[in-house]
Amino acid sequence: MKTLADINFENKKALIRVDFNVPLDAEFNVTDANRIEAAKPTIIKVLEDGGSAILMSHLGRPKGAKKPELSLRHICTKVSEVLGVQVRFVDDSVGSAAQKAAAELQSGEVLLLENLRYHSEEEQGDTDFAQQLSALGDVYVNDAFGTAHRAHASTTVVAQFFPENKCFGHLLAKEIEAIDKVMRTGEKPVLAILGGAKVSSKITIIENILDKVDHLIIGGGMTYTFVKAQGGSVGESICEDDKMELALSILEQAKAKNVQVHLPVDVLAANDFNNEADTQIVPVSQIPEGWQGLDAGSNSLANFKTVITQSKTILWNGPIGVFEMENFAKGTIAIGNFVDEATQNGAFSLVGGGDSVAAVKQFGFENKVSYVSTGGGAMLESLEGKTLPGIAAILDA
Ligand code: AMP
Repeated sequence: MKTLADINFENKKALIRVDFNVPLDAEFNVTDANRIEAAKPTIIKVLEDGGSAILMSHLGRPKGAKKPELSLRHICTKVSEVLGVQVRFVDDSVGSAAQKAAAELQSGEVLLLENLRYHSEEEQGDTDFAQQLSALGDVYVNDAFGTAHRAHASTTVVAQFFPENKCFGHLLAKEIEAIDKVMRTGEKPVLAILGGAKVSSKITIIENILDKVDHLIIGGGMTYTFVKAQGGSVGESICEDDKMELALSILEQAKAKNVQVHLPVDVLAANDFNNEADTQIVPVSQIPEGWQGLDAGSNSLANFKTVITQSKTILWNGPIGVFEMENFAKGTIAIGNFVDEATQNGAFSLVGGGDSVAAVKQFGFENKVSYVSTGGGAMLESLEGKTLPGIAAILDA
């Protein structure tokens, strides 16, 4: 894997794809600079080598229109502040103004290009547009994991114009390493905790992961499709009847592959999908009519604790209950605590994909797990076993 450390950037212009798709308030101030902070090590490495950095990103979804509210000009001050370097800005990503600004850039300087998605060619993966971008720099660095699953001009197509001079940035390299630990190189026992709402949205992940893990905890809304398929009563719980056969086939595949599947044995059921609803703990296969399972019960959590704390490599994707409602967040918080305990005892833990990241941040587990992925869709596709085009483009010779 070609990383930043393999390249000396002295007197080179690094064309860096970053993910600066940051939230802005009504006055266009950056309200969360995490993504800018995350790209900093890559940019600083280039500058410290004696090179210069040309940063390119998208912001929002302008869909080819020059929407002023989605200009990257708004974030220039924040990027300067985070990097400790006065960042220059040019109001296009290609064309004469961009070429001039790139040509004038001196070692140690940073140039931020205007929103790539002001040009519809970016999302179309247009080769001419990618070639124009490529003319701005000497080395291409991809550090945007969040868009690595898109075959866009700046994330994938541009790489072909740098056959010898392309590499992953620090952030993207860390993401790849974390996924690799879970999928290939992690110490056994390997555990996947899969929660979330629906079997249908997680099915490809489950099928792919069965070849990689020793244990699989299935929780959240997915539980009830598995329980009903095995003859249990799930009341009003979320359930995909058309996926019941699939659920049974997953259980069979798991058995054949020697993967131990752990489902909840009891749940916190409510008489309405509402934080103030009446609740009771019931066995998972005996949920009364009019009631629905919204969180894991205490016996389930005790079982999960045993599995989690004995694991050496842990992937966690998806909340175990409706964590957005305080009264049904306890299961997800408990899982966070068990993963924290396992991590303190030397396990590698990766949290990634969709809502699990939001849950982990909301409950303050961000710094207690080994790695929190920065890319929702990109992480989900990686877990499904897909090769991401942005990663393949760097690996291609
Ligand atoms: P996903 O994006 O597939 O990871 O799903 C996350 C969503 O699953 C969250 O919004 C949770 O509220 C929801 N969820 C978790 N457990 C349940 C449950 N028992 N019933 C309904 N929704 C659930």
